[in-house]
Amino acid sequence: MHPTETENTEVVVIGAGPGGYAAAFHAADRGHRVILVERDERLGGTCLNRGCIPSKAYLHATQLIEEARFSKERGIVFAEPSIELRTLRAWKESVLERLGSGIRGLAKARGVMVIHGRGHFEDSNTLRVENEDGQRFVKFRHAIIATGSKPALPRAFDLGSPRVITSDEALELNMVRDRLLIIGAGYIGMELGTVYSALGSAVTMIESATALAGADADLIQPVMKKARQKFADIRLHTRVVEMSSSGSQIRVLSECTDAGTNISRQTEAFDAVLVAVGRAPNCDDLGLANTKVLADPGGFIDVDANQQTADPAILAIGDVTGGVMLAHKAAREARIAVDTISGSAGESRNELLIPAVVFTHPEIAWVGLTEAEAREKQIPHRVVRFPWAGLGRAQTMAAPEGLTKLIVDESSERILGVGIVGQGAGELIGEGTLAIEMGATAYDLAQTIHPHPTLSESLMECAELFYGTSTHAAVPKQLPENSTPPDVSDPAAPNPILG
Ligand code: FAD
Repeated sequence: MHPTETENTEVVVIGAGPGGYAAAFHAADRGHRVILVERDERLGGTCLNRGCIPSKAYLHATQLIEEARFSKERGIVFAEPSIELRTLRAWKESVLERLGSGIRGLAKARGVMVIHGRGHFEDSNTLRVENEDGQRFVKFRHAIIATGSKPALPRAFDLGSPRVITSDEALELNMVRDRLLIIGAGYIGMELGTVYSALGSAVTMIESATALAGADADLIQPVMKKARQKFADIRLHTRVVEMSSSGSQIRVLSECTDAGTNISRQTEAFDAVLVAVGRAPNCDDLGLANTKVLADPGGFIDVDANQQTADPAILAIGDVTGGVMLAHKAAREARIAVDTISGSAGESRNELLIPAVVFTHPEIAWVGLTEAEAREKQIPHRVVRFPWAGLGRAQTMAAPEGLTKLIVDESSERILGVGIVGQGAGELIGEGTLAIEMGATAYDLAQTIHPHPTLSESLMECAELFYGTSTHAAVPKQLPENSTPPDVSDPAAPNPILG
Protein backbone atom coordinates (compact mmCIF):
# COMPACT_ATOMS: atom_id res chain seq x y z
CA MET A 1 0.00 0.00 0.00
CA HIS A 2 1.42 3.38 -0.95
CA PRO A 3 1.58 5.63 2.15
CA THR A 4 -0.17 8.61 0.57
CA GLU A 5 -2.57 6.88 -1.78
CA THR A 6 -6.10 8.32 -1.85
CA GLU A 7 -9.16 6.59 -3.30
CA ASN A 8 -12.39 8.35 -4.18
CA THR A 9 -15.62 6.42 -3.95
CA GLU A 10 -19.34 6.90 -3.68
CA VAL A 11 -19.81 4.33 -0.93
CA VAL A 12 -17.35 2.97 1.58
CA VAL A 13 -18.44 0.11 3.84
CA ILE A 14 -16.39 -0.53 6.98
CA GLY A 15 -16.55 -4.16 8.10
CA ALA A 16 -17.12 -7.22 5.92
CA GLY A 17 -19.50 -9.22 8.12
CA PRO A 18 -22.98 -10.31 6.99
CA GLY A 19 -24.10 -6.68 7.27
CA GLY A 20 -21.10 -5.09 5.59
CA TYR A 21 -20.56 -7.42 2.66
CA ALA A 22 -24.30 -7.50 1.96
CA ALA A 23 -24.35 -3.67 1.94
CA ALA A 24 -21.34 -3.53 -0.39
CA PHE A 25 -22.91 -6.05 -2.76
CA HIS A 26 -26.34 -4.37 -2.85
CA ALA A 27 -24.76 -0.95 -3.37
CA ALA A 28 -22.65 -2.31 -6.25
CA ASP A 29 -25.75 -3.98 -7.73
CA ARG A 30 -27.46 -0.58 -7.63
CA GLY A 31 -24.62 0.84 -9.71
CA HIS A 32 -22.61 2.58 -6.97
CA ARG A 33 -18.83 2.57 -6.89
CA VAL A 34 -18.02 0.72 -3.65
CA ILE A 35 -15.00 0.12 -1.43
CA LEU A 36 -15.20 -2.49 1.33
CA VAL A 37 -12.73 -2.08 4.21
CA GLU A 38 -11.98 -5.06 6.48
CA ARG A 39 -9.25 -5.53 9.06
CA ASP A 40 -9.41 -9.35 9.09
CA GLU A 41 -7.75 -11.39 6.40
CA ARG A 42 -10.83 -13.47 5.69
CA LEU A 43 -14.08 -11.71 4.79
CA GLY A 44 -17.31 -12.74 6.54
CA GLY A 45 -16.99 -11.00 9.91
CA THR A 46 -17.85 -12.48 13.29
CA CYS A 47 -20.54 -14.64 11.74
CA LEU A 48 -18.20 -16.55 9.49
CA ASN A 49 -14.98 -16.41 11.49
CA ARG A 50 -15.98 -16.43 15.16
CA GLY A 51 -19.75 -16.91 15.34
CA CYS A 52 -22.61 -18.54 13.44
CA ILE A 53 -20.66 -20.78 11.10
CA PRO A 54 -17.95 -22.31 13.33
CA SER A 55 -20.45 -22.82 16.17
CA LYS A 56 -22.90 -24.56 13.85
CA ALA A 57 -20.13 -26.69 12.34
CA TYR A 58 -19.23 -27.94 15.85
CA LEU A 59 -22.88 -28.35 16.87
CA HIS A 60 -23.52 -30.47 13.81
CA ALA A 61 -20.41 -32.57 14.37
CA THR A 62 -21.09 -33.12 18.06
CA GLN A 63 -24.70 -34.08 17.45
CA LEU A 64 -23.30 -37.08 15.62
CA ILE A 65 -21.66 -38.18 18.87
CA GLU A 66 -25.06 -38.23 20.59
CA GLU A 67 -26.70 -39.94 17.65
CA ALA A 68 -24.02 -42.60 17.49
CA ARG A 69 -24.54 -43.36 21.18
CA PHE A 70 -28.33 -43.43 20.88
CA SER A 71 -28.15 -45.57 17.80
CA LYS A 72 -27.56 -48.61 19.98
CA GLU A 73 -31.25 -48.43 20.94
CA ARG A 74 -32.11 -48.81 17.26
CA GLY A 75 -29.88 -51.82 16.80
CA ILE A 76 -27.04 -50.07 15.05
CA VAL A 77 -24.05 -50.17 17.33
CA PHE A 78 -21.01 -47.92 16.96
CA ALA A 79 -17.91 -48.02 19.10
CA GLU A 80 -17.56 -45.10 21.53
CA PRO A 81 -16.51 -42.17 19.32
CA SER A 82 -12.94 -40.95 19.68
CA ILE A 83 -12.39 -37.27 19.04
CA GLU A 84 -9.49 -35.86 17.05
CA LEU A 85 -9.57 -32.17 17.85
CA ARG A 86 -7.01 -31.30 15.20
CA THR A 87 -9.09 -32.91 12.44
CA LEU A 88 -12.29 -31.36 13.75
CA ARG A 89 -10.63 -27.93 13.72
CA ALA A 90 -9.21 -28.47 10.24
CA TRP A 91 -12.64 -29.49 8.93
CA LYS A 92 -14.23 -26.40 10.50
CA GLU A 93 -11.46 -24.27 8.99
CA SER A 94 -12.08 -25.77 5.54
CA VAL A 95 -15.76 -24.80 5.80
CA LEU A 96 -14.82 -21.23 6.79
CA GLU A 97 -12.25 -20.97 4.04
CA ARG A 98 -14.68 -22.15 1.37
CA LEU A 99 -17.30 -19.63 2.45
CA GLY A 100 -14.76 -16.83 2.89
CA SER A 101 -13.36 -17.27 -0.58
CA GLY A 102 -16.92 -17.43 -1.91
CA ILE A 103 -17.57 -13.96 -0.47
CA ARG A 104 -14.32 -12.67 -1.95
CA GLY A 105 -15.31 -14.09 -5.34
CA LEU A 106 -18.71 -12.41 -5.15
CA ALA A 107 -17.06 -9.07 -4.29
CA LYS A 108 -14.74 -9.40 -7.26
CA ALA A 109 -17.56 -10.35 -9.61
CA ARG A 110 -19.40 -7.18 -8.61
CA GLY A 111 -16.38 -4.94 -8.94
CA VAL A 112 -16.31 -4.15 -5.20
CA MET A 113 -12.81 -3.04 -4.24
CA VAL A 114 -11.66 -4.69 -1.00
CA ILE A 115 -9.06 -2.90 1.10
CA HIS A 116 -7.64 -4.71 4.12
CA GLY A 117 -6.86 -2.57 7.13
CA ARG A 118 -8.37 -0.80 10.11
CA GLY A 119 -10.73 2.03 9.19
CA HIS A 120 -10.68 5.29 11.16
CA PHE A 121 -12.71 8.41 10.32
CA GLU A 122 -10.64 11.55 9.77
CA ASP A 123 -13.81 13.56 9.15
CA SER A 124 -17.32 13.07 7.77
CA ASN A 125 -16.03 12.35 4.24
CA THR A 126 -12.64 10.77 4.79
CA LEU A 127 -11.67 7.36 6.12
CA ARG A 128 -8.06 6.49 6.92
CA VAL A 129 -7.24 2.82 6.42
CA GLU A 130 -4.15 1.49 8.18
CA ASN A 131 -2.39 -1.80 7.89
CA GLU A 132 1.15 -3.05 8.34
CA ASP A 133 2.13 -1.62 4.94
CA GLY A 134 1.09 1.92 5.78
CA GLN A 135 -2.02 4.02 5.44
CA ARG A 136 -4.36 5.06 2.71
CA PHE A 137 -7.23 7.54 2.55
CA VAL A 138 -10.69 6.92 1.18
CA LYS A 139 -12.77 9.97 0.25
CA PHE A 140 -16.44 9.00 0.19
CA ARG A 141 -19.92 10.39 -0.38
CA HIS A 142 -21.60 7.83 1.91
CA ALA A 143 -20.11 5.55 4.55
CA ILE A 144 -21.85 2.52 6.02
CA ILE A 145 -20.44 1.44 9.38
CA ALA A 146 -20.78 -2.32 9.80
CA THR A 147 -18.03 -3.00 12.31
CA GLY A 148 -20.06 -5.44 14.39
CA SER A 149 -19.39 -6.47 17.95
CA LYS A 150 -17.00 -8.34 20.20
CA PRO A 151 -17.50 -10.44 23.33
CA ALA A 152 -18.07 -8.35 26.46
CA LEU A 153 -15.53 -9.18 29.17
CA PRO A 154 -16.42 -7.38 32.41
CA ARG A 155 -13.34 -6.14 34.27
CA ALA A 156 -13.97 -8.45 37.24
CA PHE A 157 -13.63 -11.48 34.94
CA ASP A 158 -10.65 -10.23 32.95
CA LEU A 159 -7.82 -11.93 34.84
CA GLY A 160 -5.42 -11.89 31.89
CA SER A 161 -5.37 -15.69 32.16
CA PRO A 162 -5.57 -17.94 29.08
CA ARG A 163 -7.97 -20.04 31.16
CA VAL A 164 -10.58 -17.30 31.06
CA ILE A 165 -11.93 -17.31 27.53
CA THR A 166 -14.74 -15.85 25.42
CA SER A 167 -16.59 -17.36 22.47
CA ASP A 168 -13.71 -16.23 20.22
CA GLU A 169 -11.23 -18.57 21.91
CA ALA A 170 -13.81 -21.28 22.61
CA LEU A 171 -14.41 -21.61 18.87
CA GLU A 172 -10.68 -22.05 18.24
CA LEU A 173 -11.18 -25.33 20.10
CA ASN A 174 -7.53 -25.60 21.08
CA MET A 175 -8.26 -27.65 24.17
CA VAL A 176 -11.13 -29.39 25.92
CA ARG A 177 -10.78 -28.78 29.66
CA ASP A 178 -12.17 -31.24 32.20
CA ARG A 179 -14.05 -28.74 34.37
CA LEU A 180 -15.47 -25.87 32.38
CA LEU A 181 -17.53 -23.07 33.87
CA ILE A 182 -19.73 -21.12 31.47
CA ILE A 183 -20.98 -17.79 32.78
CA GLY A 184 -24.19 -16.81 30.96
CA ALA A 185 -27.05 -19.02 29.74
CA GLY A 186 -27.90 -16.97 26.66
CA TYR A 187 -27.85 -18.65 23.28
CA ILE A 188 -24.07 -18.43 22.89
CA GLY A 189 -23.44 -19.99 26.32
CA MET A 190 -26.02 -22.72 25.74
CA GLU A 191 -24.72 -23.58 22.25
CA LEU A 192 -21.09 -23.71 23.36
CA GLY A 193 -22.06 -25.68 26.46
CA THR A 194 -23.73 -28.21 24.15
CA VAL A 195 -20.54 -28.51 22.09
CA TYR A 196 -18.09 -28.76 24.99
CA SER A 197 -20.21 -31.20 27.02
CA ALA A 198 -20.41 -33.46 23.96
CA LEU A 199 -16.62 -33.25 23.60
CA GLY A 200 -16.15 -34.39 27.19
CA SER A 201 -16.01 -31.31 29.45
CA ALA A 202 -17.95 -31.37 32.70
CA VAL A 203 -19.84 -28.13 32.09
CA THR A 204 -21.16 -26.02 34.95
CA MET A 205 -23.35 -23.12 33.89
CA ILE A 206 -24.04 -20.08 36.02
CA GLU A 207 -26.62 -17.50 35.01
CA SER A 208 -27.69 -14.47 37.02
CA ALA A 209 -31.28 -14.55 35.73
CA THR A 210 -33.05 -17.22 33.66
CA ALA A 211 -31.82 -19.21 30.68
CA LEU A 212 -32.45 -18.14 27.08
CA ALA A 213 -34.24 -14.91 27.89
CA GLY A 214 -36.69 -13.90 25.16
CA ALA A 215 -38.04 -17.36 24.37
CA ASP A 216 -41.27 -18.68 25.92
CA ALA A 217 -40.88 -20.95 28.95
CA ASP A 218 -42.58 -23.96 27.34
CA LEU A 219 -40.08 -23.86 24.46
CA ILE A 220 -37.10 -23.59 26.78
CA GLN A 221 -38.19 -26.44 29.02
CA PRO A 222 -37.24 -29.42 26.75
CA VAL A 223 -33.87 -27.80 26.00
CA MET A 224 -33.08 -27.29 29.67
CA LYS A 225 -34.21 -30.83 30.46
CA LYS A 226 -31.71 -32.20 27.95
CA ALA A 227 -29.01 -29.76 29.06
CA ARG A 228 -29.44 -30.82 32.69
CA GLN A 229 -28.78 -34.41 31.61
CA LYS A 230 -25.64 -33.41 29.72
CA PHE A 231 -24.14 -30.62 31.83
CA ALA A 232 -22.62 -31.27 35.25
CA ASP A 233 -24.70 -28.45 36.77
CA ILE A 234 -26.87 -25.50 35.75
CA ARG A 235 -27.43 -22.80 38.33
CA LEU A 236 -29.87 -20.02 37.51
CA HIS A 237 -30.36 -16.87 39.62
CA THR A 238 -26.73 -17.18 40.57
CA ARG A 239 -24.04 -14.63 39.99
CA VAL A 240 -20.28 -14.86 39.96
CA VAL A 241 -19.02 -12.52 42.64
CA GLU A 242 -15.27 -13.00 42.37
CA MET A 243 -12.76 -14.85 40.22
CA SER A 244 -9.03 -15.38 40.72
CA SER A 245 -6.23 -17.51 39.30
CA SER A 246 -5.14 -20.31 41.56
CA GLY A 247 -2.30 -22.45 40.19
CA SER A 248 -3.56 -24.06 37.03
CA GLN A 249 -7.18 -23.37 37.91
CA ILE A 250 -9.60 -20.49 38.28
CA ARG A 251 -11.27 -20.08 41.66
CA VAL A 252 -14.80 -18.81 41.43
CA LEU A 253 -16.98 -17.46 44.20
CA SER A 254 -20.67 -17.47 43.29
CA GLU A 255 -23.79 -16.38 45.07
CA CYS A 256 -27.18 -17.93 44.53
CA THR A 257 -30.11 -15.61 45.12
CA ASP A 258 -32.88 -17.94 44.05
CA ALA A 259 -36.30 -16.50 44.94
CA GLY A 260 -34.45 -13.62 46.60
CA THR A 261 -34.72 -15.18 50.05
CA ASN A 262 -32.00 -17.75 50.64
CA ILE A 263 -28.61 -16.43 49.65
CA SER A 264 -25.96 -19.12 49.49
CA ARG A 265 -22.31 -18.67 48.53
CA GLN A 266 -19.90 -21.25 47.23
CA THR A 267 -16.29 -21.36 46.07
CA GLU A 268 -15.21 -23.82 43.38
CA ALA A 269 -12.22 -24.38 41.11
CA PHE A 270 -12.48 -24.81 37.34
CA ASP A 271 -9.93 -25.66 34.65
CA ALA A 272 -11.33 -22.94 32.42
CA VAL A 273 -14.04 -20.28 32.47
CA LEU A 274 -15.96 -19.24 29.37
CA VAL A 275 -17.51 -15.79 29.76
CA ALA A 276 -20.65 -15.46 27.61
CA VAL A 277 -22.41 -12.47 29.12
CA GLY A 278 -23.13 -10.36 26.06
CA ARG A 279 -21.47 -8.38 23.29
CA ALA A 280 -19.98 -4.89 23.03
CA PRO A 281 -19.89 -2.70 19.88
CA ASN A 282 -16.71 -2.38 17.80
CA CYS A 283 -16.40 1.37 17.65
CA ASP A 284 -13.77 2.39 20.22
CA ASP A 285 -11.11 3.36 17.71
CA LEU A 286 -13.27 4.23 14.71
CA GLY A 287 -12.68 7.98 15.07
CA LEU A 288 -16.40 8.69 15.56
CA ALA A 289 -15.47 11.85 17.48
CA ASN A 290 -14.28 13.29 14.13
CA THR A 291 -17.79 12.89 12.73
CA LYS A 292 -21.29 13.84 13.90
CA VAL A 293 -22.20 10.20 14.64
CA LEU A 294 -23.80 9.71 18.07
CA ALA A 295 -23.84 6.59 20.19
CA ASP A 296 -25.78 5.47 23.26
CA PRO A 297 -24.06 5.11 26.67
CA GLY A 298 -23.12 1.49 25.80
CA GLY A 299 -21.34 2.70 22.64
CA PHE A 300 -23.94 1.34 20.20
CA ILE A 301 -24.43 3.76 17.29
CA ASP A 302 -27.76 5.61 17.19
CA VAL A 303 -29.61 5.20 13.88
CA ASP A 304 -33.10 6.02 12.65
CA ALA A 305 -35.42 3.64 10.77
CA ASN A 306 -33.41 4.26 7.56
CA GLN A 307 -30.11 3.30 9.27
CA GLN A 308 -29.09 6.96 9.10
CA THR A 309 -26.80 8.19 11.90
CA ALA A 310 -26.72 11.77 13.17
CA ASP A 311 -24.09 12.46 10.48
CA PRO A 312 -25.81 12.94 7.08
CA ALA A 313 -22.98 11.17 5.22
CA ILE A 314 -22.80 8.13 7.49
CA LEU A 315 -25.13 5.16 8.04
CA ALA A 316 -24.70 2.20 10.37
CA ILE A 317 -26.05 -1.34 10.36
CA GLY A 318 -25.84 -4.63 12.22
CA ASP A 319 -24.47 -5.42 15.66
CA VAL A 320 -22.75 -2.04 16.03
CA THR A 321 -26.22 -0.46 16.24
CA GLY A 322 -27.32 -2.81 19.05
CA GLY A 323 -30.80 -4.30 19.41
CA VAL A 324 -31.18 -7.87 18.21
CA MET A 325 -27.66 -9.00 17.33
CA LEU A 326 -28.18 -11.55 14.60
CA ALA A 327 -26.64 -11.98 11.16
CA HIS A 328 -29.94 -11.89 9.23
CA LYS A 329 -30.93 -8.65 10.98
CA ALA A 330 -27.60 -7.11 9.89
CA ALA A 331 -28.16 -8.34 6.33
CA ARG A 332 -31.67 -6.81 6.18
CA GLU A 333 -30.38 -3.52 7.55
CA ALA A 334 -27.80 -3.58 4.75
CA ARG A 335 -30.64 -3.43 2.21
CA ILE A 336 -32.33 -0.63 4.11
CA ALA A 337 -29.10 1.41 4.22
CA VAL A 338 -28.53 0.93 0.50
CA ASP A 339 -32.15 1.96 -0.20
CA THR A 340 -31.49 5.09 1.82
CA ILE A 341 -28.38 6.13 -0.09
CA SER A 342 -30.00 5.19 -3.41
CA GLY A 343 -32.93 7.50 -2.71
CA SER A 344 -35.53 4.76 -2.22
CA ALA A 345 -35.72 4.82 1.56
CA GLY A 346 -38.42 2.60 2.98
CA GLU A 347 -38.45 0.02 0.18
CA SER A 348 -37.02 -2.85 2.25
CA ARG A 349 -38.04 -1.56 5.63
CA ASN A 350 -41.58 -2.57 6.64
CA GLU A 351 -41.63 -3.72 10.21
CA LEU A 352 -38.68 -6.02 10.68
CA LEU A 353 -39.78 -9.52 11.51
CA ILE A 354 -36.68 -11.21 12.85
CA PRO A 355 -36.76 -14.93 13.54
CA ALA A 356 -34.51 -16.21 16.31
CA VAL A 357 -32.95 -19.66 16.52
CA VAL A 358 -31.01 -21.32 19.30
CA PHE A 359 -29.10 -24.24 17.78
CA THR A 360 -28.97 -26.42 20.88
CA HIS A 361 -30.00 -30.09 20.77
CA PRO A 362 -32.99 -29.78 20.44
CA GLU A 363 -33.26 -26.40 18.74
CA ILE A 364 -35.60 -23.56 19.66
CA ALA A 365 -36.94 -21.10 17.11
CA TRP A 366 -39.50 -18.36 17.32
CA VAL A 367 -40.75 -15.45 15.28
CA GLY A 368 -43.23 -12.63 15.73
CA LEU A 369 -45.01 -12.25 19.02
CA THR A 370 -44.10 -14.60 21.85
CA GLU A 371 -46.81 -15.82 24.18
CA ALA A 372 -45.28 -13.80 27.01
CA GLU A 373 -45.28 -10.62 24.90
CA ALA A 374 -48.89 -11.16 23.81
CA ARG A 375 -49.90 -11.49 27.46
CA GLU A 376 -47.82 -8.54 28.59
CA LYS A 377 -49.17 -6.27 25.82
CA GLN A 378 -52.70 -7.56 26.50
CA ILE A 379 -53.20 -8.44 22.83
CA PRO A 380 -56.30 -10.66 22.54
CA HIS A 381 -54.90 -13.98 21.37
CA ARG A 382 -55.20 -17.73 21.58
CA VAL A 383 -52.29 -20.12 21.84
CA VAL A 384 -52.47 -23.53 20.19
CA ARG A 385 -49.84 -26.17 20.84
CA PHE A 386 -49.11 -29.31 18.92
CA PRO A 387 -46.82 -31.76 20.76
CA TRP A 388 -44.57 -33.70 18.40
CA ALA A 389 -45.30 -36.96 20.22
CA GLY A 390 -48.20 -37.26 17.76
CA LEU A 391 -45.99 -36.67 14.73
CA GLY A 392 -44.89 -39.72 12.76
CA ARG A 393 -41.72 -38.09 11.47
CA ALA A 394 -40.65 -37.01 14.95
CA GLN A 395 -40.99 -40.58 16.17
CA THR A 396 -38.92 -41.95 13.30
CA MET A 397 -36.23 -39.40 14.14
CA ALA A 398 -36.38 -40.16 17.87
CA ALA A 399 -37.32 -36.52 18.46
CA PRO A 400 -40.74 -36.72 20.17
CA GLU A 401 -39.97 -34.03 22.76
CA GLY A 402 -40.68 -31.26 20.23
CA LEU A 403 -43.54 -28.78 20.32
CA THR A 404 -44.98 -26.35 17.79
CA LYS A 405 -47.19 -23.51 18.86
CA LEU A 406 -49.04 -20.66 17.23
CA ILE A 407 -50.08 -17.39 18.78
CA VAL A 408 -53.21 -16.40 16.86
CA ASP A 409 -55.18 -13.14 16.87
CA GLU A 410 -58.60 -14.08 18.27
CA SER A 411 -60.72 -11.97 15.96
CA SER A 412 -58.84 -11.86 12.65
CA GLU A 413 -57.34 -15.35 13.15
CA ARG A 414 -54.08 -14.01 11.78
CA ILE A 415 -50.94 -15.69 12.96
CA LEU A 416 -49.07 -13.32 15.25
CA GLY A 417 -46.30 -15.59 16.45
CA VAL A 418 -44.82 -19.03 15.94
CA GLY A 419 -42.67 -20.93 18.40
CA ILE A 420 -41.03 -24.29 17.85
CA VAL A 421 -38.77 -26.49 19.94
CA GLY A 422 -37.41 -29.68 18.45
CA GLN A 423 -34.95 -31.07 15.97
CA GLY A 424 -34.68 -28.82 12.92
CA ALA A 425 -36.77 -26.01 14.49
CA GLY A 426 -34.40 -23.53 12.83
CA GLU A 427 -35.39 -24.82 9.39
CA LEU A 428 -39.10 -25.00 10.20
CA ILE A 429 -39.38 -21.44 11.44
CA GLY A 430 -38.97 -20.14 7.87
CA GLU A 431 -42.55 -21.20 7.13
CA GLY A 432 -43.82 -19.42 10.23
CA THR A 433 -41.92 -16.29 9.25
CA LEU A 434 -43.42 -16.32 5.77
CA ALA A 435 -46.90 -16.90 7.20
CA ILE A 436 -46.66 -13.84 9.44
CA GLU A 437 -44.97 -11.73 6.74
CA MET A 438 -47.81 -12.58 4.32
CA GLY A 439 -50.50 -11.89 6.91
CA ALA A 440 -51.63 -15.54 6.82
CA THR A 441 -54.44 -16.76 9.05
CA ALA A 442 -54.46 -20.04 10.94
CA TYR A 443 -56.94 -21.15 8.29
CA ASP A 444 -54.38 -20.53 5.50
CA LEU A 445 -51.89 -22.71 7.32
CA ALA A 446 -54.47 -25.40 8.00
CA GLN A 447 -55.51 -25.38 4.33
CA THR A 448 -51.95 -25.82 3.11
CA ILE A 449 -51.17 -29.46 2.37
CA HIS A 450 -47.92 -30.43 4.07
CA PRO A 451 -45.99 -33.51 2.96
CA HIS A 452 -46.16 -36.58 5.17
CA PRO A 453 -44.23 -37.65 7.12
CA THR A 454 -42.42 -34.39 7.89
CA LEU A 455 -41.89 -32.19 10.91
CA SER A 456 -43.52 -29.35 8.96
CA GLU A 457 -46.88 -31.09 9.42
CA SER A 458 -46.75 -29.85 13.00
CA LEU A 459 -47.48 -26.32 11.73
CA MET A 460 -50.52 -27.49 9.80
CA GLU A 461 -51.76 -29.67 12.67
CA CYS A 462 -51.31 -26.78 15.06
CA ALA A 463 -53.36 -24.51 12.81
CA GLU A 464 -56.01 -27.22 12.50
CA LEU A 465 -56.11 -27.44 16.29
CA PHE A 466 -57.16 -23.80 16.35
CA TYR A 467 -60.37 -24.97 14.66
CA GLY A 468 -60.59 -28.17 16.66
CA THR A 469 -59.87 -30.49 13.74
CA SER A 470 -56.33 -31.78 14.25
CA THR A 471 -55.97 -35.41 13.21
CA HIS A 472 -53.07 -36.30 15.47
CA ALA A 473 -53.81 -34.40 18.68
CA ALA A 474 -56.62 -34.47 21.17
CA VAL A 475 -59.16 -31.86 20.10
CA PRO A 476 -60.19 -29.22 22.65
CA LYS A 477 -63.79 -29.71 23.71
CA GLN A 478 -64.73 -26.07 23.08
CA LEU A 479 -64.36 -24.52 19.66
CA PRO A 480 -63.65 -20.80 19.55
CA GLU A 481 -66.84 -18.81 19.75
CA ASN A 482 -68.74 -18.42 16.42
CA SER A 483 -66.35 -20.71 14.59
CA THR A 484 -67.20 -23.77 12.52
CA PRO A 485 -64.56 -26.37 11.72
CA PRO A 486 -63.46 -25.70 8.14
CA ASP A 487 -63.35 -28.43 5.55
CA VAL A 488 -59.59 -28.56 5.33
CA SER A 489 -59.74 -31.41 2.82
CA ASP A 490 -60.98 -29.03 0.14
CA PRO A 491 -58.37 -26.38 -0.60
CA ALA A 492 -60.85 -24.45 -2.75
CA ALA A 493 -63.52 -24.28 -0.06
CA PRO A 494 -64.29 -20.78 1.21
CA ASN A 495 -63.17 -20.01 4.72
CA PRO A 496 -66.31 -20.79 6.74
CA ILE A 497 -65.21 -18.37 9.41
CA LEU A 498 -63.90 -15.44 7.42
CA GLY A 499 -66.23 -15.96 4.46
P1 FAD B 1 -19.67 -8.61 12.25
O1 FAD B 1 -20.05 -9.91 11.71
O2 FAD B 1 -19.18 -8.54 13.65
O3 FAD B 1 -18.58 -8.01 11.28
C1 FAD B 1 -17.91 -6.83 11.56
C2 FAD B 1 -16.62 -6.81 10.80
O4 FAD B 1 -16.05 -5.51 10.93
C3 FAD B 1 -15.57 -7.78 11.33
O5 FAD B 1 -15.09 -8.56 10.27
C4 FAD B 1 -14.47 -6.88 11.89
O6 FAD B 1 -13.17 -7.42 11.70
C5 FAD B 1 -14.65 -5.64 11.05
N1 FAD B 1 -14.15 -4.41 11.70
C6 FAD B 1 -14.40 -3.96 12.96
N2 FAD B 1 -13.81 -2.77 13.17
C7 FAD B 1 -13.17 -2.46 12.01
C8 FAD B 1 -12.40 -1.35 11.59
N3 FAD B 1 -12.17 -0.31 12.39
N4 FAD B 1 -11.92 -1.36 10.34
C9 FAD B 1 -12.13 -2.40 9.50
N5 FAD B 1 -12.85 -3.48 9.84
C10 FAD B 1 -13.39 -3.50 11.09
N6 FAD B 1 -26.21 -14.81 14.45
C11 FAD B 1 -27.15 -15.49 13.78
O7 FAD B 1 -27.95 -14.89 13.08
N7 FAD B 1 -27.22 -16.86 13.85
C12 FAD B 1 -26.36 -17.57 14.62
O8 FAD B 1 -26.45 -18.79 14.67
C13 FAD B 1 -25.36 -16.88 15.33
N8 FAD B 1 -24.47 -17.55 16.09
C14 FAD B 1 -23.49 -16.87 16.74
C15 FAD B 1 -22.59 -17.58 17.51
C16 FAD B 1 -21.59 -16.91 18.19
C17 FAD B 1 -20.62 -17.69 19.03
C18 FAD B 1 -21.48 -15.49 18.08
C19 FAD B 1 -20.40 -14.75 18.78
C20 FAD B 1 -22.37 -14.78 17.30
C21 FAD B 1 -23.39 -15.46 16.63
N9 FAD B 1 -24.33 -14.77 15.86
C22 FAD B 1 -25.31 -15.46 15.22
C23 FAD B 1 -24.33 -13.30 15.77
C24 FAD B 1 -23.73 -12.85 14.44
O9 FAD B 1 -22.43 -13.37 14.32
C25 FAD B 1 -23.71 -11.34 14.39
O10 FAD B 1 -24.99 -10.84 14.66
C26 FAD B 1 -23.30 -10.87 13.00
O11 FAD B 1 -22.02 -11.35 12.68
C27 FAD B 1 -23.29 -9.33 12.96
O12 FAD B 1 -22.92 -8.93 11.69
P2 FAD B 1 -22.25 -7.51 11.44
O13 FAD B 1 -22.06 -7.43 9.97
O14 FAD B 1 -23.02 -6.46 12.12
O15 FAD B 1 -20.83 -7.54 12.18
